[in-house]
Amino acid sequence: MVGSVVAGGVDPRPFAAAIIAVGSELLTPEKVDTNSLFITQTLNDLGIAVAFKSIVGDDRAELTAHVAHALQRHRVLILTGGLGPTDDDLTREVVAAHLGLAMHEDPEIITVMERRFASRGWTMPAVNRRQAQVPEGATVLANPNGTAPGLWLTHDGAVIALLPGPPREMKPMMAGEVRSRLLALAGDTRLHRRLVRVSGKGESAVEEIVQPIYSRWLAQDPRIETTILAGLGQVELHLVLQSTDAARAALVLAVAVAELTAALGQDVVSTDGRGLEAVVGDLLRARGWWVALAESCTGGLATSRLTDVPGSSDYVERSVVAYSNQAKVELLGVPAALIQDHGAVSEAVAVAMAEGIRDRAGVNVGVGITGIAGPGGGSDDKPVGTVCIAVAGALTEVRTFRFPGGREMVKAMSANWAIDLLRRQLLT
Ligand code: AMP
Ligand code: MG
Repeated sequence: MVGSVVAGGVDPRPFAAAIIAVGSELLTPEKVDTNSLFITQTLNDLGIAVAFKSIVGDDRAELTAHVAHALQRHRVLILTGGLGPTDDDLTREVVAAHLGLAMHEDPEIITVMERRFASRGWTMPAVNRRQAQVPEGATVLANPNGTAPGLWLTHDGAVIALLPGPPREMKPMMAGEVRSRLLALAGDTRLHRRLVRVSGKGESAVEEIVQPIYSRWLAQDPRIETTILAGLGQVELHLVLQSTDAARAALVLAVAVAELTAALGQDVVSTDGRGLEAVVGDLLRARGWWVALAESCTGGLATSRLTDVPGSSDYVERSVVAYSNQAKVELLGVPAALIQDHGAVSEAVAVAMAEGIRDRAGVNVGVGITGIAGPGGGSDDKPVGTVCIAVAGALTEVRTFRFPGGREMVKAMSANWAIDLLRRQLLT
C-alpha cells in the first residue's frame, strides 16, 4: 500500500511507523525500554520501516506533542505503556483527546476484569474501571496475560495501536492481533532472516573470513544484508533479505548460509537459531550420553547455562563446584600432590577434575574448569584470566586460555568455552 486516498488526494504520509514508549520509569537510569525492539522486529518482518521512536514520561503535554508529531508524518503509530489503572497512566486519554474521540465504558471489559480478579479470590478495585474506557470506534484487543486490554484505532488513514507496558502482555498482543491487522494493510514485501551462530573466534577474525562473502551478497539481486553482533565468546551473523517471494528468499538465504558454513567450518554452532547450550544438549541426547561438570572459577556458570535448556535432565547428570583445593581432592579425587606440583590452575588439574567427575559420576564425559577470575590471584606466570579447561570423553582434551576483561567476563568466557569444547568433542 503506497498511499491511501483521503479527501483531497493521496495521503502524503508513508506507511511507516512511529513507536512511542510511555512511562516515567523509562526515563530513569534503572529501566530500559525493550518493548520498542520487539515491536520494531515485528514491524520490520512485515516490511514496515520504523521512522522514529521516542520515550515519553507520564506527562500529558509531552505525550500529546509526540502523538501529534507521529500522526502528522506517518501512518502507523504504536504506543506501549501507560494503560494501567492508576492516575499516571494517560495513554488512552491522551490519544482519545488528541483525535477528538469521546470515551465510554465497555461493560464487557468490566466483566472480563471482574472475572479475572474473582478467579484469584479478589474483588476488582474501583481504579481498574479506568481500563474499561474505550474511545469511540476503537477495537478492544484482549489481554489474556493482564488486566489492561489493548486498543486498535483507525483514524484519517492512519492506524494506531495502544499496547500494555509489561513485556509479557505486550508481546503476544503485538505478535498476534496487531501483526495480523497490519499484515492486511502492509505491502507484499517481507523481511526474511537467518541467524548463524559462531563460537571460538573473535568478531574481527569472523569478519575477515565472511566479509568477502557478504560484500558479494550486497551487490547481488536479491541483496542480502549481513550484521555481525559479538557477545561474550560468541558471534552472531544476521542475514536479512527483503523480498515479495518467500520461497525464493528462503532458497537464496539457504545458499548463503551454506556458503558461510563452508567458510567457518566447526566454528558454526547453529544455523537454525539454537543457542550453544541447546546444540550441545541435542548432541549429547543424540548419542545417549551423560555429562558431569567440575567447576572452580566459574562457580557453576557452565552448568547453569547447560541447564537453561528445558529437558537438560536428559543428559546433565551432576555438577560440583570445587572451589578450594580441599574440595578438588575430596569431591573429585584430584591428587593433592598434583595441585602441589602444578598449581590449582593448571592443565594437569583441569584434566584430573574432568576425569575425576566423569569417573565418580559414571558418565560418558566430564568437564573440568579451573582458572583465575581476578582481580587478585594472578602472577607473571599465570596472570588474571588464565583458565584451563578439560573435556574428558572418549578422549581427553585440555586447553589453556588467557581471557581479557574483568571477573565477570572471565567467568562468562570460561563457561562459554567449556561448553564449546564439549560441543567440538561431540562433533568428532
Ligand atoms: P504500564 O502499562 O505503563 O502500567 O507499564 C507497566 C510496567 O511495564 C512498567 O512498570 C515497566 O516495568 C514495564 N514497561 C513499560 N513500558 C516498557 C517498555 N517500553 N519496555 C520494557 N518494559 C516496559
Ligand atoms: Mg506506566
